[in-house]
Amino acid sequence: MTELSKGPALPQERRVVTAIPGPKSQELAVRKQAAVAAGVGAVMPVFAARAGGGVLEDVDGNSFIDLGSGIAVTSVGNSAEAVVRRAAAQLELFTHTCVMVTPYEGYVEVCEELAKLTPGDHAKRSALFNSGAEAVENAVKIARSYTGRQAVVVFDHGYHGRTNLTMALTAKNMPYKQGFGPFAPEVYRVPVAYPFRWPTGPDNCAEEAAAQAIDQISKQVGAQNVAAIVIEPLLGEGGFIEPAKGFLPRIAEFARDNGIVFVADEIQSGFCRTGQWFACEDEGIVPDLITTAKGIAGGLPLAAVTGRAEIMDAVHSGGLGGTYGGNPVACAAALGAIETMRELDLNAKARRIEEIMKPRLEKMAQQHGVIGEVRGRGAMIAVELVKPGTKEPDSEATSAVARHCHQAGVLVLTTGTYGNVVRFLPPLVIGEDLLNEGLDVVEEALASLG
Ligand SMILES: *Cc1c(COP(=O)(O)O)cnc(C)c1O
Repeated sequence: MTELSKGPALPQERRVVTAIPGPKSQELAVRKQAAVAAGVGAVMPVFAARAGGGVLEDVDGNSFIDLGSGIAVTSVGNSAEAVVRRAAAQLELFTHTCVMVTPYEGYVEVCEELAKLTPGDHAKRSALFNSGAEAVENAVKIARSYTGRQAVVVFDHGYHGRTNLTMALTAKNMPYKQGFGPFAPEVYRVPVAYPFRWPTGPDNCAEEAAAQAIDQISKQVGAQNVAAIVIEPLLGEGGFIEPAKGFLPRIAEFARDNGIVFVADEIQSGFCRTGQWFACEDEGIVPDLITTAKGIAGGLPLAAVTGRAEIMDAVHSGGLGGTYGGNPVACAAALGAIETMRELDLNAKARRIEEIMKPRLEKMAQQHGVIGEVRGRGAMIAVELVKPGTKEPDSEATSAVARHCHQAGVLVLTTGTYGNVVRFLPPLVIGEDLLNEGLDVVEEALASLG
């Protein structure tokens, strides 16, 4: 099985041999349009053929430098050796029993790993699901069951998924919520400490934002009614916003003082992405519950809620689950992904990626007024683009930079409430030469804005 792994065999190079998208991708796009719902969009409409290491090859033979990892999923690389080996072995044994019918060891082993890897040395339990949104929904169910309260507090620029409850938790209307209401009740949104856009500047941002958030919760909701506060320690779809230092500890303390379950949504920021197992470790936060997905299983669908035993166990037997949650093949893949993260020390790799990217992007920021800010940690780095000399978001320049990169063979993603953030989420196993070449193209794209 391992000999078949094409990861290392795939040439680690950028190669553009047709127009983007090429003729085969264009043919497939016609079929896609005729068969696939229009609501399922694509950032870069080339069709994938193979991927591994730091590249993605399309059906026309173009090879893209991958600075997106399928949105922070293939952190260990596509079809990583240990993921393929373990998932393939599991495929031969059994593909499904439903853990609620007949449990299996892999599910337990993933939960044991989650207990070891997540912050805090208290007793923990986990439950496994299929998607990030499902994990967030279940975290809310668990917090409500434990506290006997209903309200959920979320933050400006937050993203938590596309199901009915998680749409309500998500801040941004287009494209996630438009036309899909009514949304779930008992959801309250408060300010987040966004240093670049804080009205009085970054210096007092943490204290002011925390005071406003706490005041709104206390006065508008009543702390005694709040089951959970849900926050991304490093906000993903909102624009890779790092809350000003001090904000998260203050909110976590408020939650603790008021019997509110503090939920860290680490679906995008977790599993080595920021150079630590979880982004909340950066300020020593120990969440009551933590939601994970994306990077957890090397590309197979798996998600988890992990947290304090007394909170997790508050739910009655049979109250949590789902047909496929914690599928045995996905669990095997997760164990392979976690093995890879440990063996290759991918936290160190993520920090190295930051060391390479940040200085180069800072230098570009000095030359190009369109870059308002460079931010992020580890391999979760972004540039926020503005009209030079102002803080006015420039979403056109952002699209133009992404388009230029795509045409030149570099897969980048955009993000942000204002659509004006270019984000970089390279696989943690990307080669340094390839990463630097990708940044050369980003620089060309900025220069081409004129
Ligand atoms: C992607 C994401 C989700 C939703 O995960 P899905 O697997 O797409 O349902 C939730 N929270 C955060 C922070 C995310 O980045």
